[in-house]
Parts: sequence; structure tokens; C-alpha cells
Amino acid sequence: MLIVMKSTATTEEIDAVIGRIESVGATAHPSRGTEVTLIGAIGDTDTEVRVGSLELDGQPGVARVVPILKPYKLAAKEARHGEASTFEIGGRLVGGQHFALIAGPCTVESREQLLKAAQAVLEGGATMLRGGAYKPRTSPYAFQGLGAEGLRLLAEAKQETGLPIVTELMDARDVEPVLAVADVVQVGARNMQNYGLLSELGRTDTPVLLKRGLASTLEELVMAAEYVLKEGNPQVLLCERGIRTFETAYRFTLDLTAIPVLKDMTHLPVIVDPSHAAGRRDLVEPLSLAAAAAGADGIIVEVHPQPEAAICDGPQALRASDFAAYARKVEQVAQVAGKAPFLATAGLA
Ligand code: PEP
Ligand code: MN
Repeated sequence: MLIVMKSTATTEEIDAVIGRIESVGATAHPSRGTEVTLIGAIGDTDTEVRVGSLELDGQPGVARVVPILKPYKLAAKEARHGEASTFEIGGRLVGGQHFALIAGPCTVESREQLLKAAQAVLEGGATMLRGGAYKPRTSPYAFQGLGAEGLRLLAEAKQETGLPIVTELMDARDVEPVLAVADVVQVGARNMQNYGLLSELGRTDTPVLLKRGLASTLEELVMAAEYVLKEGNPQVLLCERGIRTFETAYRFTLDLTAIPVLKDMTHLPVIVDPSHAAGRRDLVEPLSLAAAAAGADGIIVEVHPQPEAAICDGPQALRASDFAAYARKVEQVAQVAGKAPFLATAGLA
């Protein structure tokens, strides 16, 4: 941490700042210039956190407090000396050169709907199946998901297809039944900063797909991931799913820049959700190809056997019958960006 004093700061004010830095066990290195005095509080991330918690910005004579080290240490790229994290999920690798294609309905609606979607995405080459049993809906009057029955159907779909399951956990009280089925637990955009939920998942060994909040910065997303890592669970997949901007022509603005930037900030895999970003089926393929080209480690996409009849998010769902052709295109572009063929791994090249 670097503390920049005002040019009007008195010797007493400078000494008071030094005293507070030393009070938390850090060493202060003052550098007295002709105009201003700078005080460095150098150390490791812990020193940075301790000095940061003093909130010296408000102290008399202080002009600015400038952080030097990153506030996230376990998620930082340097924590693994620049090497990307790869996780094994249900026999499939994710991260590094391994691309994940996670596909399925927004929400589990019925046995027939889920099994049809699951079969179509399996045949098209998906590496995992998505489907929500607990749904975060803007309206409390909208369908909230099948809950326990939805989890039961997901277990059946997993049994039938062998695909690992990605499903959302909204409430820490449901952690046990969700973990019994989920190979990856999704934390939705609206729960990105639910720190109790994140810490709870940090105490499990199930991978977490953490979606970026509608109005969250990348640093806030990575700090949320840090909550899971700090509790001992290293398996976090970051997910860019579109952010709210002034543009109203589509549901959210997919922040493609986030892909290379997150990959520079952290060693964690970066997954892109083109469905919730677009809100429109016709945009899902171009956004998916753009995400794969920009270096995404995977895509999570909504697919429905009959989108017109979907209870939730039908307008953005790919038709199950179009999925195989879509998956082939995504694979081609992902390969250009350096990923290994993933449809071939499923025996469907
Ligand atoms: C979802 O993936 O089902 C979902 C609700 O997404 P988000 O949390 O990104 O809105
Ligand atoms: Mn949805």
C-alpha cells in the first residue's frame, strides 16, 4: 500500500499515519519530498489487507491510498506461476487446452423435456448437461423450478447419458440434495456476492460455476471466487454471462473483453454463457463463436427440444435439432484458439 500525503500535511499528521501503519504490525517507509510525502507500507498480501483495513483515506493529511498488490491471492495467475488450472469433472477435463460445452434446458420442466434435451446434446457432442431445478426468477409469481423433483430427473438424465450435471444452488439449506446430483454447482449471477453461500461451497469438493453479477466488475467476480478458494475448494469456473449496459436491443451486453482479461488476472477457467447475454436465439451462435475465438475455456448454452413450449427462456434456447451443427462450428473455432477437439473425445468427430 502506498499512502500519498497532501502537500499541506503536517509532521504530526505524517507521524500519526506512520503510527497507525505500525499498529497493525506493518513497516512504514516514509519518503519525504519537497512537495509531498509518500509512505510505503510494503509486505505481502496480508500486510496489504491489514493496512487497507485501516481505511487511511479518511485520516487527516492523507491525499490518496494506492493499493500495490492484488487483493485476491489464491485466484491470481501468479498463485500457480502462470499455469492454467485444469479440473477433472465426471471424467472430462476443463481448463488449459480442454474446452467444455455445457448444454441443456434453462429449467427442468418434465421428464420428457429433460431426457429429450439430454439425448440431443449428448448426440451433438456436449461435454456436460445443464438444467435448473431451483430457478432465480425476477418475479416471485413466475415458475420457480421443480425443486427436489427436478433434481431427481437430473439424476435420471445423468444415469441415462453419462453426462456430468451442472445445476444451480440458490439457498445453502439445499446444499445436500443439490450436491448429491451436481457434478458442478452453479452460483447464479444474482447470487455472485452471496458470501455465505460461496463459503459453504468452499467447504465442499464439488466444482463451482460462478456467474458474473449483472453489474459486477471483474475484480468483484474474482474476489467472489476467492471466497470459495479460501475455504479450500480450488475448483471454480468463472462465467461471463452478460452485463447490464445502456443498450436495450438485447437482454445483456456480452463482455467478450472479460475473457482475455480474466485469463490474465487468474488461473481459473473462463466459461461464457451466450444465451442469457443475448436473450435471443439468433444471437447465440455468433456470440458463441466469438467467445470461442477470444479464448473461452467453455460455453454454457440453453437447448430445448421445443423452445416454443418452454416454461422459461424459450426465445433464447437453441433448438435441440440444431445443436449438433452448432457444436461442430464451436469446436472448429475453439481449435483455432488452441483448444483440443472435444467432440472427438466424445467419439463424435
Ligand atoms: C441460468 O443459467 O439458468 C441463469 C439463471 O443464469 P444467470 O444467473 O446468469 O441469470
Ligand atoms: Mn435461463
